[in-house]
Amino acid sequence: MLAKIKKLELEAEVLEPNSKRRRQLAVVIEKYAEHFLRTLPTDKTYTADPINANAFRRLSISERSLEIAEILALLDKYVVKPGLNINAPGFLGFIPGGGLYASAWGDYLAAITNRFPSASFVSPGATRLENILIRWMNNLVGYPKSAGGNLASGGSIANLIGIVTARHVLGLKGKDFHRLVIYLSSQVHHSILKSLRIAGLEEAIIRVVPVDLHYCLDPIILNQLIKQDKKNKLIPWLIVASLGTTNTGSIDPLPEIIAIAKKHQLWVHVDAAYGGFFILCRSLKKHFIDLNQADSITIDPHKGLFVPYGLGTVLTKENNDLFKTHFYDEVDYFPDMDNEHPEFSPTNLSPELSKHFRALRLWLPLKLHGVGPFRAALNEKLLLSRYFYQSLSRVDHIEIACKPQLSIVTFRYCPPTGDSDQFNSLLSTYIKEEGKVCFSTTVLNNHTYLRMACLNFRTHFDTIALALDVLQHGIKHVLKA
Ligand SMILES: *Cc1c(COP(=O)(O)O)cnc(C)c1O
Repeated sequence: MLAKIKKLELEAEVLEPNSKRRRQLAVVIEKYAEHFLRTLPTDKTYTADPINANAFRRLSISERSLEIAEILALLDKYVVKPGLNINAPGFLGFIPGGGLYASAWGDYLAAITNRFPSASFVSPGATRLENILIRWMNNLVGYPKSAGGNLASGGSIANLIGIVTARHVLGLKGKDFHRLVIYLSSQVHHSILKSLRIAGLEEAIIRVVPVDLHYCLDPIILNQLIKQDKKNKLIPWLIVASLGTTNTGSIDPLPEIIAIAKKHQLWVHVDAAYGGFFILCRSLKKHFIDLNQADSITIDPHKGLFVPYGLGTVLTKENNDLFKTHFYDEVDYFPDMDNEHPEFSPTNLSPELSKHFRALRLWLPLKLHGVGPFRAALNEKLLLSRYFYQSLSRVDHIEIACKPQLSIVTFRYCPPTGDSDQFNSLLSTYIKEEGKVCFSTTVLNNHTYLRMACLNFRTHFDTIALALDVLQHGIKHVLKA
């Protein structure tokens, strides 16, 4: 048996490369990363997917091992290149963030140290780091000391945690679900509706509150709907406000919504996944008044703080609300976590137990650069979007959905003749395939619009000027076609 054990040990030895081998891997991988970053600004914003049987075969796992150089070549060709180049400065679709370089080293250290930021008794340091970031964000939004939060994988999961917490804290029971009423606007992110379904609340009544000309929820109608529902013996429960909608970057009127929620005792969840970190910009302070009165907030560092995808945050005005919802004791294989350590254990505040050491991908860049450059980048994006908006306003036949409040400009070209929706779809596809910049499309009032979302920290003036040129040229092309 000993001989067998020794043989297996030898076979598995490669799993712990020695120092020399580690260096070899690091050099090759870093070379690839450098090449990726150096060519990023000039790479196309879109590459068609060459996916074929060969790609599947070559990416599939088998008993055979490959050299790192060969693996990177496969990765580049079949994984990294195809599709939208969302890190490129010219990528102006969806909500781009860019992916900070320093975060990559944060992730590297997170993986190497592999700390367990779930329970403070296991890793008080990793737990502390997560809590320090939560506290920093709680301070930003103006929450009291009793506030809490959790680093989740993204905004969708943060929204889910917010909604499940609202359900639990208010003690809602299944027998009443069909009488519950949720208020949100037509512009709410679909992850909210998905969260309601996952949270078992499909039977609840959803009131889609109309929006005004700026695509912001109308608080007067909201108030009327709640009063009517109360009269009809329904249970108004939750208002979801958006602080920066995905379609147009519109901001629902928080002070009015908060006042209504207080009067009728409803939970307010603010989805600030996209817009939240614009709180760093002094010129926008007025939009964030009363954010600290919301019961829960979603805010995404992988959007407004440019960290690579995989980091969203839920904040709650009362940490205890998260705790009551997620704490689970009587775990035989865990010591009494409650009294272990003064730092809160993240596992008591979310559904996760073993989790990625996410804090490092945000903490490292913030420590390395300070907050100033983040604020500057956000202010720059605001001005770039305003420049784009003003320039676009001077282009014939362009209709802009609304004046941008943040960094999204939503618009369409209304051709003198023919179907405008078809025209804008063709325009979007032409620009995408040309690959210099990339917009995305959306639907407003049953019409196809293009969206310019400026949030990649790499997008600067040159790119916005290019985007305007590309658009003019694209319009001419589609008109001729
Ligand atoms: C992006 C976004 C979400 C979803 O966040 P993910 O991190 O993509 O899961 C939710 N709400 C709004 C307003 C968003 O822009």
